Amino acid sequence: MKVQSFIIDCHTHSHFSFGSTMAMQDGITQAQAVGLGGITFTDHVEFAYSDDDGSVDKLFDSKKRLQEIQALQQQYPSFQVLSGLEIGYEPQIMQEVEHFIMQCPVDCVINSVHRIDGIRLSPPVFYEQPKQQAYARYLLKIEESIIEYDNFDVVGHLGYICRYATYADKALRYAEFAELFDRILKIIITKGKALEINTAGLSLNLGFTHPDYDILKRYKELGGILITLGSDAHRAARVGDYFGTVVQELMKLGFTQVCYVKNRKFVMVPLTVPVLREKAV
Ligand SMILES: [Zn+2]
Ligand SMILES: [Zn+2]
Repeated sequence: MKVQSFIIDCHTHSHFSFGSTMAMQDGITQAQAVGLGGITFTDHVEFAYSDDDGSVDKLFDSKKRLQEIQALQQQYPSFQVLSGLEIGYEPQIMQEVEHFIMQCPVDCVINSVHRIDGIRLSPPVFYEQPKQQAYARYLLKIEESIIEYDNFDVVGHLGYICRYATYADKALRYAEFAELFDRILKIIITKGKALEINTAGLSLNLGFTHPDYDILKRYKELGGILITLGSDAHRAARVGDYFGTVVQELMKLGFTQVCYVKNRKFVMVPLTVPVLREKAV
C-alpha cells in the first residue's frame, strides 16, 4: 500500500468553479494516488462589479456543493476532504463576499487578487505599462487586500501576476520590491494568516512557484511559520503537482512543517515524507 503523508493540497478547483470540470471524486482519487493526506476544494467566489466576463453569473450553488463534499467526507472517513473558498479581492464587493461566506460555512478561505481596479490580470492589456509599475501596483493591491479584509486564512498565490505578464522576464523578485514585500509579509505574520506556496508556476513552466523561494526565505527570516501548499488544479491530473520538489526546497530553507486549515484553524504537518510527486503530468 502506498504511504500517505499528512500533507494536503489546499488549493484546488472542482466543477463548481468556472474554468474547471474536475469531479470531486477524481480529485480525491488523484490526491490519494500521489500520496497526499487530503484535499481542499477552494472554489472561486468572484463577484465582478461589472459583468464584462460574466463571472457574476457563474457563482456556484453553495448548498449543492456542501452536500457533495459531506457525502465524500462520509465515504472517506480517514482522508481529509475539506471545503474551502478562493475569494477574489476587490474593495467594492467585499460586503457581498462576506455575506456569501457567512451563508457558506467552510474549512478555509483563501484571499486572492485576480483584478486590479477592475482590470483582470489574465488578459495582456494590464502589461502595456512598464513591468516595475505593473508589479508594484499588484503588490500594493495585495497589501490592501490583507489590510482591508480580514475574514480569510491564507494569502493565495502571491506572484499570480507572473502567470500572465507579457514581459520577457516575468519573475517577481524579493530584491526588486524588498520594502513592499517586507510590509506584506509582516502583515501576514502579525495577523496570523498563512502564506500559500502555489505550484502552478512550475506546472506552467515558469520555473518558480508563487511566491518564489527568495520570498519564502525572507518570510522565514521575519518569523513566518504558516505555509500551505496548493496546486491550483483545475483538473484532477494536476492535484499535488510538484509537492515533492517544494517540500525538499522548504526543508533546505529550514522549514520543518507546513499546515492546512480545517474549521478555520491551522493544523501543522511535519515535512518528513519524501513520497510526493516531483513532476507535472
Ligand atoms: Zn486564484
Ligand atoms: Zn485558484
